Amino acid sequence: MFADIQEDTLNINPEEIVKKITKRTKALVPVDFAGHPVELDKIRTIARKYGLLVIEDAAHALGSEYKGKKVGSFSDMTMFSFHPVKAITTGEGGMIVTDRKDLYERLKKFRHHGIIRKPEKGAWYYEIEKPGYNYRITDLQCALGLSQLKRLDRFIRRRRELARRYGQLLKGTKELILPTEAKGSQSAWHLYPVQIAGGAAKRRKVFDALRRRGIGVQVHYMPLHLHPFYKKKFGYREGDFPKAEQYYERALTIPLFPKMTNREQEYVVDALKATLA
Ligand SMILES: *Cc1c(COP(=O)(O)O)cnc(C)c1O
Repeated sequence: MFADIQEDTLNINPEEIVKKITKRTKALVPVDFAGHPVELDKIRTIARKYGLLVIEDAAHALGSEYKGKKVGSFSDMTMFSFHPVKAITTGEGGMIVTDRKDLYERLKKFRHHGIIRKPEKGAWYYEIEKPGYNYRITDLQCALGLSQLKRLDRFIRRRRELARRYGQLLKGTKELILPTEAKGSQSAWHLYPVQIAGGAAKRRKVFDALRRRGIGVQVHYMPLHLHPFYKKKFGYREGDFPKAEQYYERALTIPLFPKMTNREQEYVVDALKATLA
């Protein structure tokens, strides 16, 4: 079941979540879009009230903060990705953090063929209660991850600095809606998604013009319910999630990466302003 987003942070709207809960609901899976934390307090309150797990997709939010604490300290499970496009990488792979022993044990089994060891029956003994997977990350990947981890704070600082500069340099640009940061939240700025107020046709023009200038703009993302699989399987159609659809028609992610120089950023800003004009 999907729920629509809110216009300001572009994150899932807690009020929409409540409308979608049924007897069969087991967990809430909110995404910290672009690195901006979801409303973790409200989501936790809803989860407690209905007896649900919160599995937070924080693939964009490694290093983000909510009310003074790092993302990863709030939900029953928080998932991070170390895919090459993310804040730090292990080539492929990721991490789930939890402070619940029972979930930790279950995740370990799930990762490693569903195997349970029982030393009381012999040092060699193991059994399989439920099949699991081979989802272990390799030591080689972890070595890369550990060296990346040392650079994470620097990466996030620079991302935040670049986001602040975009905010200043683009402020007041006609037809441009800038991303916001809610009070008490600090985004790791995995993405810098602006919106072109003119809608899909205008966005397409701006997108193509910036690509022609060699600027790596992107669109994140087409809403899931518009993908053929979800349409066919669940009968979703256009109009079901108006806020997500409106965002998608306007969305344009402009470049932001730790190695970006101020001059490169100014080049992007000038090109974007010129294109819009
Ligand atoms: C990258 C990403 C994932 C998937 O992570 P993998 O490590 O590729 O499995 C999930 N959710 C979001 C929001 C992501 O950006």
